[in-house]
Amino acid sequence: MTVNILFSAQRSLWDAYKDALPKALNAQGIAAQISTAMPPDQTDYIVYAPNPSLTDFAPFVRTKAVLSLWAGVETIVGNASLTQPLCRMVDEGLELGMTEWVVGHVMRHHLGMDRHIHGLNGRWDQTTPPLARDRQVTVLGLGMLGGAAAKALASLGFNVTGWSRSPKEIKGITCLHGADGLKHALQQAKICVLLLPNTSATENTLRIETLAIMPRGAVILNPGRGVLIDDDALLAALETGQISHATLDAFRIEPLPKNHVFWRHPNITVTPHIAAETRPKSASQVIASNIKRSEYGQPLLHLVDRNAGY
Ligand code: NAP
Repeated sequence: MTVNILFSAQRSLWDAYKDALPKALNAQGIAAQISTAMPPDQTDYIVYAPNPSLTDFAPFVRTKAVLSLWAGVETIVGNASLTQPLCRMVDEGLELGMTEWVVGHVMRHHLGMDRHIHGLNGRWDQTTPPLARDRQVTVLGLGMLGGAAAKALASLGFNVTGWSRSPKEIKGITCLHGADGLKHALQQAKICVLLLPNTSATENTLRIETLAIMPRGAVILNPGRGVLIDDDALLAALETGQISHATLDAFRIEPLPKNHVFWRHPNITVTPHIAAETRPKSASQVIASNIKRSEYGQPLLHLVDRNAGY
């Protein structure tokens, strides 16, 4: 049996996947026809990244699943025409990339590297940073990416608190949840990493009231989504010193407009949504093994909860 796969994404992504995807399917023993122009009524699976050529999923009457190339699915999860199961990307490459970004930027602030990179101007200032075990780091979101980053930070000795929607137990991490949990998590957040999805419940997680709970001079790292932070509240908190620095990888508008204040703010570091990227080789393996599961009557992995929005 041959499955028909529509690859619906930007042209550059097809270039990246056109060899990796057939190879991964072949390795799983799946015979497949893959096309960027498969007719809807012949399409068994859609490998998808948001693009203007496919926004109406209604004609895909025999499609068994839409397999997202991205981990964040906020631009598709609310699409009323999408009645087929939606799977998000859970890829080892994404996880490793995000962990490296988070650890690198936590270390920058933990060690106070900027002082030495910008230079001490001849001052023999031997101020030493605390050990990691004496630094409290909070990770908001303990899913695939937040969980991996939290564990990596804990393995370096950091005192890690994490926060999620449902209760969790992760060895070496203080896990909190719910509204009360957020308050406690933020009280510990000398460095706060945001790895929540973009949903109606997570918008403005950091706003005037919640920023005020954090220890004075806290650092924010946001590789999650721009909407997680109220931008004006962040700017005000940077102004008063309540927050000493924010390193932002995700923004409400992307690309971040050239004239945006974040680009020139002395206490904001902008990284242009490069914290983690789906890697074609490992992502193709994830897609192929999910298609195999579906073809063999096993439940799909990484299904999006349409009510929760992630
Ligand atoms: P995930 O596995 O779905 O994990 C999401 C985490 O957020 C879970 O722990 C979840 O709690 C928690 N959460 C969701 N809603 C919440 C709420 N209302 N209150 C408290 N906790 C809540 O997602 P992921 O794969 O780790 O990815 C996280 C986000 O990273 C993505 O959604 C995307 O926005 C972003 N991302 C960014 C980049 C980049 O390059 N910057 C790359 C990939 C992804 P439960 O565990 O209880 O469900």
